Amino acid sequence: MAYDNDNIFAKILRGEIPSEKLYEDDDTYVFMDIMPRVDGHCLVIPKTPARNMLDATPEQLAACLKTAQKMSHAVMKAFDADGITFQQFNEAAGGQEVFHLHYHILPRHEGTPLRAPGQMADFGVLKEQAEKIRAAL
Ligand code: 5GP
Repeated sequence: MAYDNDNIFAKILRGEIPSEKLYEDDDTYVFMDIMPRVDGHCLVIPKTPARNMLDATPEQLAACLKTAQKMSHAVMKAFDADGITFQQFNEAAGGQEVFHLHYHILPRHEGTPLRAPGQMADFGVLKEQAEKIRAAL
């Protein structure tokens, strides 16, 4: 399947739609998920096009994992978490909804389940949580 330049994360990377940015480097960009399954749910994406893990280059994968580790430490600290759930979906059958490679980072607390999908965040709360993560970086 071909990469679609008009997917929502491509638009975020081009600055055409807003995002709550947490971190960026030459190769990756990190921002808050707008429908968080837990407090601190964020997404790591490569700055260059890749539909998902299946067409990504080894360099894109390596850059995303390096950034994901850095962000995992930051959200652990910011939310005093007990662990991290790390997710990545490939194609619709694999659960993927946005077709630009992305990794979910979810700080977890013992005994606290994920929230149901599809619930929009309160943007004030999202901003406060983002500030805590940026401070922990
Ligand atoms: P997946 O493709 O891995 O199933 O999930 C896509 C993720 O992107 C979902 O967790 C969803 O909440 C998030 N998402 C969808 N649209 C937007 C958006 O416009 N902005 C942000 N920040 N996240 C989004």
